[in-house]
Amino acid sequence: MERSANDKSSNRHLPLVSAEESETSSQRPGSMRPVDVSHRTFSEGEFWRKIPGFEAIDEATFLDHRWQVKNSITKVAGLKAVLGERLSDDVIEDIAEAFREVPMALRVSPYLLALMNWDDPKGDPIRRQFIPLASRSLPDHPKLSFDSLREQADAPLPGLTHRYPDKVLLLALDTCPVYCRFCTRSYAVGPDQDAVAKVSLKATTSRWEAALNYIARHPQVEDVVISGGDAWNLRADQIDTLGQRLLDIEHVRRFRFASKGLAILPQKILTDNAWFDNLARLNERARRQGVDMMLHTHFNHPVEATWITQQAMLRLHQAGIHVRNQTVLQRGVNDDAPTLTRLNRRLGYLNIHPYYVYVHDMVRGTETLRTSIKTACELEIATRGSTAGFNTPTFVVDAPGGGGKRCVHSFDHYDDQSGISVYRAPAVKANEAFLYFDPIDTLPKAFQKRWQHPEQRDAMVAAAKRRIRRL
Ligand code: SF4
Repeated sequence: MERSANDKSSNRHLPLVSAEESETSSQRPGSMRPVDVSHRTFSEGEFWRKIPGFEAIDEATFLDHRWQVKNSITKVAGLKAVLGERLSDDVIEDIAEAFREVPMALRVSPYLLALMNWDDPKGDPIRRQFIPLASRSLPDHPKLSFDSLREQADAPLPGLTHRYPDKVLLLALDTCPVYCRFCTRSYAVGPDQDAVAKVSLKATTSRWEAALNYIARHPQVEDVVISGGDAWNLRADQIDTLGQRLLDIEHVRRFRFASKGLAILPQKILTDNAWFDNLARLNERARRQGVDMMLHTHFNHPVEATWITQQAMLRLHQAGIHVRNQTVLQRGVNDDAPTLTRLNRRLGYLNIHPYYVYVHDMVRGTETLRTSIKTACELEIATRGSTAGFNTPTFVVDAPGGGGKRCVHSFDHYDDQSGISVYRAPAVKANEAFLYFDPIDTLPKAFQKRWQHPEQRDAMVAAAKRRIRRL
């Protein structure tokens, strides 16, 4: 099937009867479908005790953010030490082999480890996001490039990307409390790996000063994202310094700390009082000044929210700190409508605003996690309407090459046989086309073969570019 921007037919989630027909049968006005409220049920009690290495850990210890950080697993042998007989030797070898090839290091918190289903490690959607298996890996797409979003090319200073006119992205540090396979910043985040030497973006005063001075000198900048790495790893005094300095700049109207922390180490909100108090004080000052401060977080699956998340969110909400969520669409994790619907409803229930669902970026070692544009379009259609519009995330492609976020449906051209989609971003970079490529193993066999030959690849790409309506 080949589709242009004006031809979006053939979708398996489209209704099979017209709206009129539907209304005369089962969907009469006022009739109610059974409502699934499973999103309100959170894992309870001391769920971590099922992990052999955490059997003796009491609640106070498990809620201590320092204990979580100190006991995070960073070596494959550490997984075996904590999981014991629950992790077979063949799975351990599979994991060890995978980590020799991928750009992201192993780091998982005890909390995250306890959310994984170790009775079915190969099928578990949480394991899949953080711990690769060599037996499940696929070759990278031939069009993949490291730093596929070209953040460094759009950075006037190291770690400061200025792409949209009124917004900058400040990469304040290059470490995280866990390392995710899908990380778009695998070019810089975390330690070097066997397969990859990384760009250094350490949390240094000189780099921050240069970035803050740049923001102060550019009055068009109203919006600042502080990311990394992960703001959860900033010390209490560092988060205060960055926030206060931004609040001193009159033209900064919005800033947001980006952190996966709530999904993988919510204990910090409950027990790191110095950090939380500084965040809350910043929020109070921001509100007094009429500035919008936010926390952006990163839940990908409903299992990632527990009773501990509920408590952490209550504390944030009571302090008036608003939270938005950005989900990464991943094969075998959340690429089905029931999971995404439950995730969005659960986030809404927690007062976390579902903001974006990202099509998985083209990141090394993640071909097995990426989905096609067609899947993303179908899921957007299938999930819209399952909750209120303001709690419905926008499905976007972060356009490879630096076009910024584009609505997934807004392609100029898409051919789901070759897997090539073309987007334009005239307000970001006029006269440029941005191409995304579906994972090759999802394409028809004939097109998988064409991707094996460089000349045929080039011909498919050239043909896709010719279909752009105007440049
Ligand atoms: S927490 Fe964010 S920055 Fe860190 S590895 Fe995960 S996706 Fe990348």
